[in-house]
Amino acid sequence: SEKDAALAAAAAPVPSDSPTIFDKIINKEIPSNVVYEDDKVLAFRDINPQAPTHIVIIPKVKDGLSGLSKAEERHCEILGRLMYTAKLVAKQEGLDDGFRIVINDGPNGCQSVYHIHVHLLGGRQMNWPPG
Ligand code: 5GP
Repeated sequence: SEKDAALAAAAAPVPSDSPTIFDKIINKEIPSNVVYEDDKVLAFRDINPQAPTHIVIIPKVKDGLSGLSKAEERHCEILGRLMYTAKLVAKQEGLDDGFRIVINDGPNGCQSVYHIHVHLLGGRQMNWPPG
């Protein structure tokens, strides 16, 4: 009935904590250009690059981290691992003159995929302030 559907909808997980396209990338259900992978994180080239080098770095297990605004104390280790991976990949990509990392959060931050990720951008002069 309509009421059952409404109750099911109310009980469904909030959209921000639902699986995203990044789960399909992690599970290799959709292809991606992986540049770094270990047991905790995956780094792959952004499909819509905003710089000559544009890589997305994600935790393999979301654990509630749909975005940085959802971070809890237990996430400190994986958050550090994402940052450290950005450094490793920047080195691997030869971004020796510098680079930028970005974490978009929520509507005002222009976040479009609700599985936390660090953008690594490089290969050109970045501008400040950002758009
Ligand atoms: P956000 O806007 O949430 O900060 O970043 C999400 C990023 O993921 C965007 O830069 C977007 O281009 C990228 N992206 C979305 N879907 C895919 C995909 O299927 N494959 C790849 N490689 N990147 C994606």
